[in-house]
Amino acid sequence: MTLNQTNKSGLLPVAIVGGGITGLTAAFELHRHGVPVTVYEASDRVGGAIRSVRAHGYLAEFGPNTILETSPRIAQLVHAVGLTHRRLDPDPRAKARYLVRNRRPVPIPASPLGFFTTPLFSWRAKWAVLREPFVPPKRDGQEESIASFVRRRLNPEFLDHVIDALVAGIYAGDPERLSLQQAFPKLAALEQEYGSLIRGQIFGARARKRRGEVAKDRAPKFSFDEGLQVLPDTLRERLGAAVQLRSQVTRLLRTQNRWQVTVQTPAGEICREHAAVLLAAPAFKLAEIKLEAGAGTSLAFLGEIRYPPVSSVVLGFRREDVEHPCEGFGMLIPRVEGFHILGTIFSSSLFPNRAPAGHLTLTSYIGGERQPELAARASEELYDLTCQDLRILLGVRGRPTFCHHYYWPRAIPQYNLGYGRYRQRMEELEGLCPGLFFGGHYRDGISLSDSILSGLRTAERITTFLTSATPMTS
Ligand SMILES: Cc1cc2nc3c(=O)[nH]c(=O)nc-3n(C[C@H](O)[C@H](O)[C@H](O)COP(=O)(O)OP(=O)(O)OC[C@H]3O[C@@H](n4cnc5c(N)ncnc54)[C@H](O)[C@@H]3O)c2cc1C
Repeated sequence: MTLNQTNKSGLLPVAIVGGGITGLTAAFELHRHGVPVTVYEASDRVGGAIRSVRAHGYLAEFGPNTILETSPRIAQLVHAVGLTHRRLDPDPRAKARYLVRNRRPVPIPASPLGFFTTPLFSWRAKWAVLREPFVPPKRDGQEESIASFVRRRLNPEFLDHVIDALVAGIYAGDPERLSLQQAFPKLAALEQEYGSLIRGQIFGARARKRRGEVAKDRAPKFSFDEGLQVLPDTLRERLGAAVQLRSQVTRLLRTQNRWQVTVQTPAGEICREHAAVLLAAPAFKLAEIKLEAGAGTSLAFLGEIRYPPVSSVVLGFRREDVEHPCEGFGMLIPRVEGFHILGTIFSSSLFPNRAPAGHLTLTSYIGGERQPELAARASEELYDLTCQDLRILLGVRGRPTFCHHYYWPRAIPQYNLGYGRYRQRMEELEGLCPGLFFGGHYRDGISLSDSILSGLRTAERITTFLTSATPMTS
């Protein structure tokens, strides 16, 4: 049975639960290979965590700001969707990243010489890096927090002044709780394979090149002329009527090798038959779906996964009101520095069309595991707290010319110690319930590029399932 035949013979569509980037990528990939799909999206828009808003000449990104091109498959997808001409690469001058130390943003060194001369670290910390290749690897098979790993292989100063800020910038998370093996599997693998991070960085580069992969810290970043929202919006256009908005999946029932999907829509409840189901909504939303596929099959365990709250605060300023040149990607702020914000992206330095001429856009994040209670504050209070920090850090004067804020009550899943048990349960359920697939940020990595690659890989897994399963016609 070929896939073209399945389409022509009117086989049941695959149900995709969630119209975020994972669900849309998987749907597009299946659709362009002739597999019928229906994307059910609970809200009135596609994109999920991607949320770009253009107003008064500014472009605000409330979710992710860039896609990391960690695999050639990402550019291939952009090309297949017909968006290559709308791709926007960052201004080449915006390479510097800053880390706050002693209440000042200091450029992160980009070369070994820069590392040894930077005022960011003490000599003790620099010595810890030289010593790292000689620290014996831990090979007891026990899971470890990222904090414990850094203390063991480097030193506490790196944890407090670098890793804490990085973890806040990526996960809005807590290094004492995030699992090295689950949240940073590539770091864990470097220690296991090469016995050291530094040796692994040097010798692992060749292996990555062979696999066509690019390390996240070196991967090119990009967006689109009108922000990241362009990608989900265009995927939706390509999928046409296959995407159904305001359609919340509430129940999945497995009957005789097919799936009956119950969906709540503004017109009432509907029930449809599908050949397979991809679960691409946030874990805490999937936990609300009633799964009826035999004894012991439930999605309730997904409700245990923690997603701390985050507020994204996008502020515009007149160029002359900001003392710092803001040339670069942005700044990360460790907890020990005592600020409200977790970090700031210099959005209009990265992509100049994010602000009107003579103005700057700065995107800051508040909350996360560090200060979850701050994220839920009212907009005006968040603008004040952010301006207060930016005044000290970047020499911002006067009132912002643009203010926008978006509150994510549950932003990013925390791959904390013990997360492996959730992934294991997903795998078990896939074995127990043929045709049920888990994919996306709660399973395959939290970044946008991880989600895109998860969508592509899950589409392949679904195709393999469909080609090996008995044809199911409508
Ligand atoms: C504030 C913030 C900043 C971020 N910054 C970055 C960054 O800089 N770089 C980066 O790489 N990544 C970043 N990320 C992470 C990245 O954006 C996400 O991991 C990724 O977009 C997740 O895509 P997804 O499709 O897996 O899930 P989502 O985007 O969460 O989409 C899931 C969709 O499912 C829908 N849904 C929920 N329940 C149901 C239901 N029952 N039925 C039907 N539909 C349902 C939702 O409405 C949603 O549209 C950030 C995330 C946030 C929140």
